[in-house]
Amino acid sequence: MQVLKPIYDDVINRNPNEPEFHQAVLEVLESLEPVAKRHADWLDAGIFQRIVEPERQVIFRVTWIDDKGAVQVNRGFRVQFNSAIGPYKGGLRLHPSVNLSVIKFLGFEQIFKNALTGLPIGGGKGGSDFNPRGKSDRDIMRFCQSFMTELWRHIGPDTDVPAGDIGTGAREIGYLYGQYKRLSNQHTGVLTGKGLTWGGSLGRTEATGYGLCYFMEEALQAKDQSFKGAVVAISGSGNVAIFAHEKATELGAKVVTMSDSDGFVHDPQGIDLDLVKEIKLVRRGRIRDYLKRHPGATYGEQCRDIWQVPCDIALPCATQNEIDEEAARTLVKQGCIAVGEGANMPSTPEAVKVYLDNKIIYGPAKAANAGGVATSALEMTQNSQRFSWTFAEVDEKLKQIMVDIYTTVSAAATEYGQPDNLLLGANIAGFTKVATAMYQQGIAY
Ligand code: NDP
Repeated sequence: MQVLKPIYDDVINRNPNEPEFHQAVLEVLESLEPVAKRHADWLDAGIFQRIVEPERQVIFRVTWIDDKGAVQVNRGFRVQFNSAIGPYKGGLRLHPSVNLSVIKFLGFEQIFKNALTGLPIGGGKGGSDFNPRGKSDRDIMRFCQSFMTELWRHIGPDTDVPAGDIGTGAREIGYLYGQYKRLSNQHTGVLTGKGLTWGGSLGRTEATGYGLCYFMEEALQAKDQSFKGAVVAISGSGNVAIFAHEKATELGAKVVTMSDSDGFVHDPQGIDLDLVKEIKLVRRGRIRDYLKRHPGATYGEQCRDIWQVPCDIALPCATQNEIDEEAARTLVKQGCIAVGEGANMPSTPEAVKVYLDNKIIYGPAKAANAGGVATSALEMTQNSQRFSWTFAEVDEKLKQIMVDIYTTVSAAATEYGQPDNLLLGANIAGFTKVATAMYQQGIAY
């Protein structure tokens, strides 16, 4: 990196102690070096400096009373990163690891992902260091209500539209929406992932996992490969992982692993998805419970060992940096031909280098997992029209969007001389759309 190196150095100096954010910025700026060399106009207009600085960041106290009557204090975040092409859009993460660095990395990635969907949505992200694990429904409800008591003044259906992410599923969106409605006296599409009887879209729950498989099937077929007959390793057992399993299986693959933050199961017969749904979605239990019904499966306590299980296709769907260089090398050694990222930034930069050096078919998160936010944008469209589409209509649109994303990303990679580097293609194509809008909208003096 030459032209953009000073911008990256500035990001480091101005945002100390934000390693995840630095990692996400570095990955994007490295890809954008050839773009900067072609676009003196964008350099002159400060587009690169501007895009790494959030338009607005809100950090707030969330106080709530737990079941025992004790006062609890958490920290809430909403980073409104870029609104050049539409209202801020991005999920809310509830996990003890949440801090400003994590939310900024996610919000920054979201800008380019949202641009790739072809839909009018800007980039944002939010969340809290609240740990939902082991909490009662009432604890979760009181937390969500308190969180929204502050957040509601910063969001709106044409301003900023949050959604789910780790720890924020249908239940949490319900509690958040109820409180928004109480405070604003408005029934609008201010959140996505809503319940089907109050503005939600059919197909939203499945969208990220299904979209991941649609994207990867396109990438695989370009290399005369397919999910059909493939052995697939999936990490995680949440929303993305479950529906990636469902679609990969439908496309003819056998999924042999799933995990949670305690460990992973390996079932060489193929993971029984109905059982995983029962454990994780109904009982909110732990993945190790899988062995009670399938004693032939094995359980490993180290999450990262999941990548030692031989597979043709790996779909990391849990969290950031879950595949490091060593895990990537193991995957390659065991004959893995493709990695599709369901989670955000699940591969370290060193792991990505291993994929590219070894000609692994690599679907980077901001392209491969864009199906969730794309379907959220379809939910917004239906809310604006006060109308709803059938599951088949939404799924068809999702599939077309994922095919289009693959075509766009692949064309940008080819244009910039590295046809197999879909990460480069995704960063350049997403950035180009946002940069063009920022340039046309001028600079505020
Ligand atoms: P869920 O909360 O539904 O599931 C997350 C899964 O990952 C759970 O199985 C969880 O285990 C596991 N997990 C969480 N943290 C860790 C960790 N530190 N180590 C190992 N496992 C972990 O979240 P989603 O499925 O919605 O999100 C998963 C990933 O996909 C995230 O990176 C998210 O940002 C990304 N994503 C999600 C989208 C969506 O539409 N939901 C859209 C695009 C990207 P446990 O049960 O133990 O917590």
